[in-house]
Amino acid sequence: MISAHQKTVMKASRTRSQERILSLLKTIKLGISAQDMYVELRSRNQSMGLATVYRSLEALKLEGMVQMRTLPNGEALYSLAQQDKHHLTCLACGTSIPINQCPAHDLEVELQTDHKFKIFYHTLEFFGLCSQCQLAQTAQLSQ
Ligand SMILES: [Zn+2]
Ligand SMILES: [Zn+2]
Repeated sequence: MISAHQKTVMKASRTRSQERILSLLKTIKLGISAQDMYVELRSRNQSMGLATVYRSLEALKLEGMVQMRTLPNGEALYSLAQQDKHHLTCLACGTSIPINQCPAHDLEVELQTDHKFKIFYHTLEFFGLCSQCQLAQTAQLSQ
């Protein structure tokens, strides 16, 4: 557990840009790209340069606060690292369905111990076709 004191110290070392990005990420469910974050912050009157967005994200990533996942189109989505969440991602329409199980959870605990490695997060992605896209594909094939 992190003591209240440690929390204050960690918080104090963060820049205002990092704080703004964190509070934005708290409102985002499925992750957001740096570009969209830049636009969103601007609409909240919390404008910062895109380079600052990337720099802040990089710092938060090394702190274990933020995690990144890459979509099939190469776009990187950022989200808060706390939640052990995984997704089923449809390659046709890009829909991401969150799943609540994590088969890697116990493995992670084991690896941390065996390798004395501090794991911030892991990624596990499932790709394929959602039910709607499967129907669309079947319809197309039977034409
Ligand atoms: Zn789909
Ligand atoms: Zn997991």
